Amino acid sequence: MSMMTDRTLTCSDCNEAFMFTSSEQEFYAERQFSEPRRCPSCRASRKLSRGGSSESARGSDSYGGTRQMFSATCSTCGREAKVPFQPTGSKPVYCSDCFTPQRSSYR
Ligand SMILES: [Zn+2]
Ligand SMILES: [Zn+2]
Repeated sequence: MSMMTDRTLTCSDCNEAFMFTSSEQEFYAERQFSEPRRCPSCRASRKLSRGGSSESARGSDSYGGTRQMFSATCSTCGREAKVPFQPTGSKPVYCSDCFTPQRSSYR
């Protein structure tokens, strides 16, 4: 029922003209917001800069899921061992056979 029409506003940040559509005007009027002073992109960038929750920073190196395996030489049998960490050389590395805890001697 509204007789609102799209309007063109000028962004106070970048001075670009942007559309303030009739549906947006309704949205703003419903919530008694004053009409936007900035274009959507400037609003988004302002929200990002003061928000602090940067979604873009996350998700680069996901922990869990596929684990990268490094190959090393087993300190016990000398065969190739696959380990889920970067072998430093200072600590002994064991292959899956030798890594198994020797519990059989315990009774
Ligand atoms: Zn702008
Ligand atoms: Zn081994």
